[in-house]
Amino acid sequence: SPFEGSCCGSSYVSSESSLEITKYRVVMLGESGVGKTSLVTQFMTSEYINTYDVSLDDEFGEKSVSVLLDGDENEVTFIDHPAHEMSVENCLSTYDPHACVVIYSITDKASFKKAEDILNYLWREDYTKEKAVILVGNKVDLARSRVVSTDESKALASCHDSKFIETSSGIQHNVDELLVGIVKQVRLRLAAQRK
Ligand code: GDP
Repeated sequence: SPFEGSCCGSSYVSSESSLEITKYRVVMLGESGVGKTSLVTQFMTSEYINTYDVSLDDEFGEKSVSVLLDGDENEVTFIDHPAHEMSVENCLSTYDPHACVVIYSITDKASFKKAEDILNYLWREDYTKEKAVILVGNKVDLARSRVVSTDESKALASCHDSKFIETSSGIQHNVDELLVGIVKQVRLRLAAQRK
């Protein structure tokens, strides 16, 4: 090859040979109306990642995105069932997900209570030990209607061994950060299990 030994040639080969495609399943949990569908829609239109629909599964509320992180391709399928259609327990046993994203709205106490119930359930079932669990406070653009504080949510997440982030799918605040955070957490949990 004319590029042999050159910087350009070798980096091309090494990035090609190390590319690994991994598939993950992530369930979106929480009260209806908190923004689960909006967040997944935002993931699909993120600027710096490849996104595509799994149209065949569309009727079941599944969407997949491809996230390139540290030279590896991560194909993440988001499962977003309307809350009334499937219990958390049923959802976990049906999909055996790699991560759970538990969402509430910062403007809605009842949705926070629901998120707390879900975290308690995941904790009791020892789910949090093995899988990535991320608590998400959505709708931070509605700051004047806030009824759930950042501090109480942080405390809730940390005592359930979960990560926490506040987002707005409305104004695209922290949405890419959430997507990358989900992938990172899944990879960390998987790496820990391999040890
Ligand atoms: P889901 O039932 O949890 O899937 O919630 P949806 O994604 O359908 O959102 C419910 C409503 O909240 C819709 O009218 C959205 O436009 C609105 N919504 C979702 N995310 C945000 C946000 O970050 N800010 C604001 N202001 N509205 C939002």
